[in-house]
Amino acid sequence: MDYKGFDAYERSIEKIEGCTIFMARDDGRDTIIVLADDGADAGALGFTGYALKQGIKAPLTHENALVLRKLLPHTAPSQVLRKDRSFGCGDRLGIAALGHIRVFEKYDAYPVFAQQSIRELNLTGRTYEDVLDTVSFAVFREGYRKGWGADGDHLKTVKDLEYALGLGFSMITLDCSDHIKTNVTAANAKSLPQAYKDKYLGKQFDIGEGVSLCFDEEELKKIVTIYGEAIGFAADMYKRFLKDGVYKADFEISIDETSEPTTPLQHYFVARELIDAGVSFITLAPRFCGEFQKGIDYRGDLAQFEKEIKVHAVIARHFKYKLSIHSGSDKFSVFPSIGRETGGVFHVKTAGTNWLEAMGIVAAADPALYREVHKYALSAFSEAAKYYHVTTDLSKIPAVDSLKDSELPGLSANNDARQLIHITYGLILNKKDPSGAYEFKDRLYKLWHDREELYAEALLTHIGKHLDLLGVQKTG
Ligand code: ZN
Repeated sequence: MDYKGFDAYERSIEKIEGCTIFMARDDGRDTIIVLADDGADAGALGFTGYALKQGIKAPLTHENALVLRKLLPHTAPSQVLRKDRSFGCGDRLGIAALGHIRVFEKYDAYPVFAQQSIRELNLTGRTYEDVLDTVSFAVFREGYRKGWGADGDHLKTVKDLEYALGLGFSMITLDCSDHIKTNVTAANAKSLPQAYKDKYLGKQFDIGEGVSLCFDEEELKKIVTIYGEAIGFAADMYKRFLKDGVYKADFEISIDETSEPTTPLQHYFVARELIDAGVSFITLAPRFCGEFQKGIDYRGDLAQFEKEIKVHAVIARHFKYKLSIHSGSDKFSVFPSIGRETGGVFHVKTAGTNWLEAMGIVAAADPALYREVHKYALSAFSEAAKYYHVTTDLSKIPAVDSLKDSELPGLSANNDARQLIHITYGLILNKKDPSGAYEFKDRLYKLWHDREELYAEALLTHIGKHLDLLGVQKTG
């Protein structure tokens, strides 16, 4: 809309301390405009930029994001993990917020719009500042006021926790995997301290809803060996960063990045030990049975999954935290049971599917560019596959040159093509030509920029499908 001579985003307009501030389109870019009423001082709000007559044109810098978050609390992350239903929307590219906002304006769940692991930062060449600022600006622009979170995802070190918390991230997902022992057998398990014997053996733990758990000595010995150090690590990090409440952030315990599924007994033990150590956490992510491979539906025994999620959900309710489900992109066949067994109380994370939807836009809009990227992805696949557990069969992907342009978007229904594009995102974005310029990145971003609306609508449909199957009601 035209507002005082600016091409303003209507929903962004705010009045603060005698000034009007809003987001406007200026020369093809979004920018913050601050206009002072008579007698007010536009500079007093703290934005920096170019002087206007009675105002400031403030570019979307980190410094201005800091000011924005201070002035307008809805543009800062908050502790939405504490809500019954929360949903992580990892946006690796920093272009999905518009679509994600539309989704969560419609559904009875709370979004974590900013969610990245350090690995994702490295692969996309982004920073946590950028990840957070991008969302703050989008939330401001769209006037989204329901609340959203920022997740320092899969953090493992003191340095990384400090980094995310220092910026105001509203949750930390502590990745305990480096402290979880693997290949533990009865033969190599450590001897069992008497305190654990007294606490757990010869007892029946009735945790409600007809579920009771019993430990035998051999099993307990293995469990203590596998998780003992991880529990100590989580307790240390909690005491160091979160116990005193200086940071307004929630704690998620992640024990999912292991090769073996978390059994109900293991889950109970980890939760019980953390709680007895005084650790307060909002969510815990077990490793579920079957396979949660990237960007495709669940693989495994559905009946077994349903049986186990039932018990995991009872344990979580017993201790009063939420289950967190990682790698939730496109796990459509298990969403109904997750929604049902958790009683609609959960956190689900997605990331890669948002990137795949973005590549779907490329396939439809610029077939030639899509073919180039696809062929490069094929050549880079073996490199990327070192970092992911996938069972991709490249021979099942039709040659892109044999497909008509109109058939390219259909590749997103091919699981092998999905995984090919999914796991090669970092290599695709970072590929440089001999002159040192990005081979694809700039062209891709230009395309997405020009088709912002199309991408937003695709995300509304696709993430909406996730929420529908999880049983989340529509509110708008
Ligand atoms: Zn995980």
